[in-house]
Amino acid sequence: MKLEDIKAIVTGAASGIGRCIALELARAGAKVVGGDLDIDGLKSLETEAVELPGEIYGFQLDVANELSVKEFISLACEKIDDPNTLVNNAGILRDGLLVTRDEDGWLRKLPTAQWKRVIDVNLTGAFFMAREFAAVAIEQNISPALIINISSVTRSGNPGQSNYSASKAGLDADTRTWALELAPFGFRVAGIAPGLTNTPILSRVSPEALAEMTANIPLGRIAEPYEIWQAARFIIECDYLTGGVIDVDGGARF
Ligand code: NAD
Repeated sequence: MKLEDIKAIVTGAASGIGRCIALELARAGAKVVGGDLDIDGLKSLETEAVELPGEIYGFQLDVANELSVKEFISLACEKIDDPNTLVNNAGILRDGLLVTRDEDGWLRKLPTAQWKRVIDVNLTGAFFMAREFAAVAIEQNISPALIINISSVTRSGNPGQSNYSASKAGLDADTRTWALELAPFGFRVAGIAPGLTNTPILSRVSPEALAEMTANIPLGRIAEPYEIWQAARFIIECDYLTGGVIDVDGGARF
């Protein structure tokens, strides 16, 4: 697919990696509808895109809410007519150990709500988006079409991230599953597994943990969002790529 032909829906577009992908697409002449919970972030994204050759429109979206996803996809279709690309990027961290002992010696268990919210946003949210997007694209005979799922280096397990690692491992499984299911309709589905990347999500990680993790990255630094965009661009332009997940992690594979 050519960048200038892309009509993309990008979730989590107000910040970090999603924002960078939305802006780079618009810089290349593509049309983008960005969805996010953060309305102010979407407004500033629209403003930043005004001078770019492409177009960006922002609408509020909760990927974990089925109704919100349906309404958002129909707004996106009105705005950019026949979207052909979905970037499932919205994601959250709510880290916690499965079981731990607090300073008073009491056992603390990872709260169910903390487990569920991450699964709801990172995995079920991507499922709601992919299902709605694929249904509309197939109904409108849009082909070729593309789904990019943003996974994570911690998909194979990381202490304190039962919820997050499981959500990303599940997402990778669905990258492969949807690639197989949707190929007959002219869809490609691929993933990107970023390592630590310089975005606001890292404010949830303690500076000490961040320093320790960075010290273990073979390339000696964390990624910039633009480097995740470079993988997205490769996926868009490589028409024979489907079902795979590209690691962009400075060598820090878990
Ligand atoms: P970020 O916090 O900067 O951006 C995430 C965006 O998602 C935010 O704008 C947030 O408002 C939005 N969001 C959260 N819940 C949402 C919901 N329910 N509906 C719609 N939007 C919602 O984080 P980021 O680093 O840019 O993360 C983007 C993706 O990259 C995530 O899936 C994350 O898991 C993944 N990732 C990030 C890193 C990293 O180190 N930054 C590493 C690996 C993977």
